[in-house]
Amino acid sequence: MSAWVESRIDRVEPATPRLKRFFLTTPLARHVAGQHVDVRLTAEDGYEARRSYSIASAPGASEIELLIERLDDGEVSLFFHDIALPGDTIELRGPLGGHFIWRPADGGPLLLVAGGSGVAPLMAMVRDWAGSARATPLMLVYSTRTSAELAFADELRALEATAPSFTWVAVTTREAPLRERDRGRRIDSAALRALLAAWGQRPAQVFVCGSNRFVEAVTVGLLDAGVPAPVIRTERYGGA
Ligand SMILES: Cc1cc2nc3c(=O)[nH]c(=O)nc-3n(C[C@H](O)[C@H](O)[C@H](O)COP(=O)(O)OP(=O)(O)OC[C@H]3O[C@@H](n4cnc5c(N)ncnc54)[C@H](O)[C@@H]3O)c2cc1C
Repeated sequence: MSAWVESRIDRVEPATPRLKRFFLTTPLARHVAGQHVDVRLTAEDGYEARRSYSIASAPGASEIELLIERLDDGEVSLFFHDIALPGDTIELRGPLGGHFIWRPADGGPLLLVAGGSGVAPLMAMVRDWAGSARATPLMLVYSTRTSAELAFADELRALEATAPSFTWVAVTTREAPLRERDRGRRIDSAALRALLAAWGQRPAQVFVCGSNRFVEAVTVGLLDAGVPAPVIRTERYGGA
């Protein structure tokens, strides 16, 4: 296991009402898109809390970016949202994770399905793809309750305008669809079938990330829609 290293929070930016972006300078080695870091907080009395956070930035970026959701009764996420400030240092270790990863050489077609803050590691893949593999078809299906909860919406719109092989579908479970191709209901196998048909690609690499319940529902839906199990990789953040 890699060593804990001091890393500096350079900037904090709101992404949505419940998500903040944290940009850190760290001596950690270059990551592969999809990997995460562990954070360790230590109180004066020696009490420790450790949590994992996916890296949202592209491999090789000068700072690493974390996207952290506020849980009102959470321990570490509330530290980030209410206490952490630019200039503070925290302990990180990583990059970690050898299964939920994508490199440009892995190719596609690439299907990414995100629920809420689960977009973080998939954004690292989108950014890596945008920098080096734009000919590979990529579809991002990104589900939140409302459009106000979509992180990175401007970046995704800009990418869509310039990269013909990039498709982005916003799923808003408590709001009407934003655009014609978007969806205003929870994703199920019928929705996935329709999205795959509209995309016109057979995904060869599929990454699903979000809460336990989201990952479970999407995986069942994908299998039902005929996507073979061996191409599906999942990352579960916990929670309901
Ligand atoms: C590989 C990986 C990557 C991740 N990446 C991200 C990411 O990019 N962004 C992100 O926001 N999250 C991510 N997570 C989730 C993250 O690690 C934390 O789980 C999340 O931030 C909540 O931590 P917390 O300390 O704020 O909440 P916690 O204090 O851990 O609480 C979480 C929930 O559990 C309940 N709970 C806590 N303790 C108990 C108890 N003893 N009994 C009953 N209930 C309890 C709380 O009420 C709360 O609802 C990732 C998880 C994994 C495994």
